[in-house]
Amino acid sequence: MLETAQAVKASGARLLRGGAYKPRTSPYDFQGLGVEALRFLKEASEATGLPIVTEVMSEVDVETVAEYADMLQVGARNMQNFSLLRKLATVSRPILLKRGPSATVKEWLLAAEYLLAGGNANVVLCERGIKTFETATRNTLDLAAVALVKELSHLPVIADPSHGTGLRSLITPMSKAAVGAGADGLLIEVHPCPERALSDGPQSLDLNGFAELMKELRKDPLRVIRAA
Ligand code: PEP
Ligand code: MN
Repeated sequence: MLETAQAVKASGARLLRGGAYKPRTSPYDFQGLGVEALRFLKEASEATGLPIVTEVMSEVDVETVAEYADMLQVGARNMQNFSLLRKLATVSRPILLKRGPSATVKEWLLAAEYLLAGGNANVVLCERGIKTFETATRNTLDLAAVALVKELSHLPVIADPSHGTGLRSLITPMSKAAVGAGADGLLIEVHPCPERALSDGPQSLDLNGFAELMKELRKDPLRVIRAA
């Protein structure tokens, strides 16, 4: 965790995201280390100054996770967990709300509305790919939705090409495409040795890969045009 945090910070990352409570498709897969992992994240945050983002899966964990994390993630599969959303509306932490794998843009924005209407104005939306007929990629990264939501909502929108494609080789091109579509940020999975990752290794960059991605993004002509 520390090695990753230091490397991504040096490459220009602004937030450190890691899962302590992991929503896994199979109950036999690694489920995360819970509070122990929150402590690892905190230590890495203190060493680097990077604020922490981490997922809260259940209402009962909200207080504990909010003690450690600077921003709370609602995972894709919990986007319409309305009791979790209602609880998070009352928490003094910004929320990263991932789009459900089968959620329409309207359903996604209404999920955000639960947080806003309940009193939490600090919501960032994250497009992480949706289920389509296509199986060549893990999900279909819906970048039209990024551009559309930028039109429909005042909320910041970020893109997650790691979950959006499931394929390491597509992270850089889809990151550039997301920036082109108007994304306010990117969520990228990184591991010092992706082959050994306990979750999502095939869609993670290694530390050099992340440094390269950040270099490429700085060259992106669209980014330069927008900054001008
Ligand atoms: C994650 O962010 O690691 C994660 C589990 O993502 P999602 O909820 O988008 O599947
Ligand atoms: Mn993941």
